[in-house]
Amino acid sequence: MVFVISGPSGCGKSTLIKELLASLPGLDFSVSHTTRSPRPDEVNGRDYYFVSREEFQKMQAAGALAESALVHGEWYGTSLAEIENKSKNKDLILDIDVQGARQIKARLAEANLIFVVPPSFSELEKRLRERKTDSPQAITLRLENARQEILQSDFFDYLVINGELGKAVEELRSIIIAYRCQFKVRQKEFQEILKSFRTGSGS
Ligand code: ADP
Ligand code: 5GP
Repeated sequence: MVFVISGPSGCGKSTLIKELLASLPGLDFSVSHTTRSPRPDEVNGRDYYFVSREEFQKMQAAGALAESALVHGEWYGTSLAEIENKSKNKDLILDIDVQGARQIKARLAEANLIFVVPPSFSELEKRLRERKTDSPQAITLRLENARQEILQSDFFDYLVINGELGKAVEELRSIIIAYRCQFKVRQKEFQEILKSFRTGSGS
């Protein structure tokens, strides 16, 4: 299953996903391709595949991307290969923007879409400033885009408010655990139990 996590830049998606991956087994993270430059602590292949605009356009033209979008002036996209390779044995987390979430839903109707918001606009501004990864101009652009993104979020399935971090992680975990408990998802386990009921004798 694919879980899409979207939300304004700086609301805490990466932080939440890190906590989620560390605390819930059977999950993997979809590494996106981007044309933006790496931040000091980012590693190619772990956080993103950092590519040139030319390379990105080639992938788009070849139909190698499941979704792509121009976000804050840079290109971002999820490759089909990334989804195919990583969703074979695990549930996959995609950290992508609202435009990308819409494209994934159109391709994969059963994908679960989760929108993350900060408790307020001023808290978002504070988090972006304190993260110290973006210039004042980039922060202004990200805040302007945040307003647009929130207005376009009504097609998502779930809303997580990232106020207290622990509570937001617990909400995300609950969404995934509840999905995994669905009858249709548990068919294999259920069939085994049914078999034991058919063959077992009562005491
Ligand atoms: P995103 O991936 O959505 O752009 P980040 O995960 O980089 O956001 O978080 C932005 C900043 O906010 C980081 O400095 C992070 O440590 C901080 N942060 C994340 N979640 C919380 C929270 N619940 N409370 C306070 N600060 C947070
Ligand atoms: P950042 O530059 O802060 O890492 O990410 C900026 C925005 O791009 C975030 O909203 C993030 O969710 C989005 N993003 C990251 N990867 C992808 C992707 O593969 N596709 C799309 N559509 N958006 C992405």
